[in-house]
This record gives sequence, structure tokens and C-alpha cells, in this order.
Amino acid sequence: MYKVCKFGGSSLANAEQIRKVCDIMLSDPSRRVMVVSAPGKRTREDTKVTDLLIALANARISGYDGAAELQDVLDRFGSIAAELELDAAIMADISLDMNTRLCQDCSNSLRFMDSIKAAGEDNCARLVAGYLKSIGRTASYVDPRVAGMFLTEEYGNAQVLPEAYPLLARLRQNPGISVFPGFFGYSKSGQVVTFSRGGSDITGSILAAATEAQTYENWTDVDSVYSVNPALISNPHPIMEITYDEMRELAYAGFTVLHEEALLPAYRKGIPVNIRNTNNPTARGTMIVRNRVNFDGVVTGIAGAKGFCSLNMSKYLMNREVGFALKVLQILADEQISFEHMPSGIDSLSIIMRKDYFTPDKEKIITGRLVAELGIEKVSVNRNLAIVIIVGEAMARTVGVTARAANALSKAGVNLEIINQGSSEISVMFGVREEYCNYAVKELYKEFFQR
Ligand code: ASP
Repeated sequence: MYKVCKFGGSSLANAEQIRKVCDIMLSDPSRRVMVVSAPGKRTREDTKVTDLLIALANARISGYDGAAELQDVLDRFGSIAAELELDAAIMADISLDMNTRLCQDCSNSLRFMDSIKAAGEDNCARLVAGYLKSIGRTASYVDPRVAGMFLTEEYGNAQVLPEAYPLLARLRQNPGISVFPGFFGYSKSGQVVTFSRGGSDITGSILAAATEAQTYENWTDVDSVYSVNPALISNPHPIMEITYDEMRELAYAGFTVLHEEALLPAYRKGIPVNIRNTNNPTARGTMIVRNRVNFDGVVTGIAGAKGFCSLNMSKYLMNREVGFALKVLQILADEQISFEHMPSGIDSLSIIMRKDYFTPDKEKIITGRLVAELGIEKVSVNRNLAIVIIVGEAMARTVGVTARAANALSKAGVNLEIINQGSSEISVMFGVREEYCNYAVKELYKEFFQR
């Protein structure tokens, strides 16, 4: 058995947490790769190391010396090293590493920012490997450049390059525990590049796929994934098993347990992802798998997300114009806008997009072109749209789920602006006004989980 384990920032926030995660690694000899985030918040008011590093990089980019910001970073690492009773040489290494990074040219601010941000994970991995060695265990810090974590040169939003996989597979030959810093890798030209925020989840998934691990364990601070956002419903139903597809749908509408891009590498290789709680390691957590065997209800999860808008258009005899939708989508593509859903009627079509992308400026250009180039007769934009989705593989085999959901929402007085069901039939999406979003989620939860 070979397992890759990723530990999030809250699992590494201080020495006590680091001891816990090392105990978790050591309690199962098949846990061979340990992907670490940067230390996270110790208390609600605390600041994550990554945010301290961003403040430091911004100070330097703006022409300040950033001495206070650098001290904050060194103090965080210093207090962890002291509590773990590590050799002073480790802090000297970390301090040297920080100074080397800061000596780099910051005229390319994105490149500089990524190099500084990556210091959180990189130095955390050095500390954790140092601690494991100090207690007599076989462990090593892995340098992502040497290991072959090659990424596209897209600062702050990198993607893994296919040639990284066979190189990373060599990790299996390392003895003991390999401590691998999450969140960043190197471009082919040797620059440090990071994934988007929360990207250590992606590192873990890539390493699980590359090493063909039996399981990718993602250790965080919740016992499981829940059927609904626990901020909306107290003691929500825990999900023991969920498919990649279901998880993807729920993540899309706001489930934030895993980074949105993190499932893909594991999904391609069919590696189960196990969400676990560092603070309650005996809980089995949630298994994310290709095919489910356990179904304890027709709906697996319910999610809602604000921040959407719809572009609605109609034209008499639209259905007879070959290639009409293609032309609409081409206009969106010309403006670099990706769309989310496209419900249609006989002579009408709506495009659902994220409001962040469909800015008022883009709206002006696009609606102008729709009228001028495609002869659209009526065009309107609704900027007050949230989407609420119910997700469940079992829905495809069950008659009446949409009716039950629509009925529950209508009884609750929620007007449905849009209804959309994909061909996979594992989710149904409702478009509602933003102010109804949380209320609609709660009503649907009552209908499917509390009756
Ligand atoms: N430390 C990075 C962040 O805060 C990456 C991660 O934790 O996954 O975004």
C-alpha cells in the first residue's frame, strides 16, 4: 500500500499540530508522501503565513524594505522551530532562504510574488522533515525542482505539465517519508510558479496520480464533507461516500473542502480521495470515489452560490436559424467570457455567467453586438442571480426528484427564474434571486434530509 497525504494550513499552524500530523503519518507505514501547506491560522484573528508573505512581497514591490513583514514571517517559523526543539541550523537555513528570495529582482511583480509566496510551503516542509529526523525517523525534504514538479509559467495560476508525471513517479523509490511542499513547482525556464490559492490540494492529487497511490488522504479540520454548508444548518448530514462527479458539481456551487482543480489528477487515475480530520484521526472521513456502492438517500448534497447573472435574448423564429447559438457563443468567446449554462426555449436563449467576468463594460459590448450582428429583438440582463443545486447519482434512477424540489421551493415562496438539468441527470440546478439563495438551500435540505 502506498498513500499520499496532504495536510492543510490549520493542521500545521503550530508545533502541537505538527506533532499531530507526524503521529498520523507514523501510525500507518503506507503513508509515504506528506504534502504540506504553509502554517495557517492558530486562532480566528491570526494571519496565515501565505498572507504574511503576500504582505511582504507587496511591501517590496511598492519600494519599502518590508523589514517588519519579514520579521513576522521569521517569527512564525521561529516559534514553531523552538517549540519543536529543532536545531538552530534550521532557522538559519530558513532565514537565508528568505533573504535569497528577497534579493531577487522584483520588477516582474507576478514572478517575484510567486517566489515569495512559495516560501511558506517550502520552509514548512523543511521544518517538518527536520522534526521527523530529530525524533529518529527516516524522512527527507523533497525539492520540487529536483523531483520534477514542472508547471506552466502562469504565475499564480499554474497548471501541471504532462512530463512532470513520470519524473514524480520516482518518489516511490525514496525511503521513509518524503515531505513535499505543496502549492508550487517550477516552470521549464526554472522560475518558481504557484497554483491558485489553496493549491496544495492540487500538489497532493498530482503526486497521488504520479505515484499511483492507493489513496490520496487530504487531512483538514472537519470530520467529513457535509450534505450542506454547516454554516447554514447545524449538525448537517455527513457524506461518507461521494463520487468525483457529485463532488465536482457541489464544489462548483460553493463546497470548498477541496480546491476546485484538485480532483482532476486523482479522477483520471481513479484514485480514491479520503477527506480526514487531523483533530479527530479516528473518524473515517469522506471517500470520494469513481463509483459508489453506498447510497443512503436520493440526494447527496445541496449547495448554493451567489454571483451569477443571465443574459437573456429572444428573436422570432430563432429555432429555424442554423448556427444561431454558435454565433452567440462566438461573440462571448471574442470577449474572453466563459459561460456556465445555456437554457433555451423555442425562440429564446439565456446564457448564465459569473458576474465577475460579465462586467458592465463587457455587457455593453456584447449586447450591442447581439443586436447589430444577430438581429436579436429583445435582450435583457439579470444581475441578481444565484444558483442552487441538488446533486445525487441516485437521482438518475428516481422519478420525481425535480418535482419534489420545485414543490418545496414553491411552497416556501421562492420564485424559480431558471431550471436546468444536465444530461448526466446527477444534478438539477435552480436559478433564484440572490436574496433567496440561503433560504432555498435550507428549504431543500428540509425536504430531502429532515422529513
Ligand atoms: N498556502 C497556500 C494558500 O494559503 C496554499 C495552500 O494552503 O494550499 O493559499
